[in-house]
Amino acid sequence: MIGLQGIVKQFDGNTVLHGVDLAIPEGSVTSLIGPSGSGKSTLLRCVNLLEVPERGALQLGEVSVSFTGARLPAETLQQVRRQTGMVFQNFQLFPHRTALENVMEGLVTVQKWRRAQARERAMQLLEKVGMAAKADAWPATLSGGQQQRVAIARALAPSPRVLLCDEPTSALDPTLAGEVVDVLRALAAEGMTMLMATHDLRLAAAISQQVAFLENGALVEAGTPRQLFQASTHPRTAAFVSTLA
Ligand code: ADP
Ligand code: MG
Repeated sequence: MIGLQGIVKQFDGNTVLHGVDLAIPEGSVTSLIGPSGSGKSTLLRCVNLLEVPERGALQLGEVSVSFTGARLPAETLQQVRRQTGMVFQNFQLFPHRTALENVMEGLVTVQKWRRAQARERAMQLLEKVGMAAKADAWPATLSGGQQQRVAIARALAPSPRVLLCDEPTSALDPTLAGEVVDVLRALAAEGMTMLMATHDLRLAAAISQQVAFLENGALVEAGTPRQLFQASTHPRTAAFVSTLA
């Protein structure tokens, strides 16, 4: 179980997360929906401590962190980050590394794997996302959907406990988004724990067991896709869902 309790995040005295509580059951997918600026990306970044909350607590497997405003020890950051993988809207592959090298990179530099082993694992992951044939391609020669599939392989390389996806299909046209959705769906079916911010309610409904609606930095409601999309009793949720439907 991955848990967030009372997460408060401020930027320059401006509060953008107002005490968010969210439980993410292991082996299932949780989608975060909400208007632009509602805090979805910030909440994802609080799970891997790319942003450190001012208050609240995070549980990630055996690691529990309480946020008090004090600086976190580097060891805590490492323990948390080691258990998370992140996929970004704009892929963020290293441009001067091939697809294979992108997937190997973290294993070699952070995890200190031997290159031969890292290469073997990276090839397996490229196969999993249907990109083995492009192992030696440069990112710039790949379509957006292909780049995102490589980025997913890279995020999976260290066997994270949770995969964090920030609008993984938003930069892609529908055809290319479809190939990324297929990969995410297959991962979900294998029981990968995922927390995904998305504008795509169809994607959220298709692969999530839980959907959480965030507005103005506050969690309005969390429940099954059916509860949120068809049977919400919160007027704010219903209003938001109707704008995207
Ligand atoms: P979403 O992903 O839902 O669009 P964000 O998490 O990106 O929302 O942003 C939530 C709020 O936090 C916005 O008002 C945004 O301007 C602000 N914000 C996000 N990151 C920063 C930052 N690094 N510095 C200052 N403000 C930020
Ligand atoms: Mg965002």
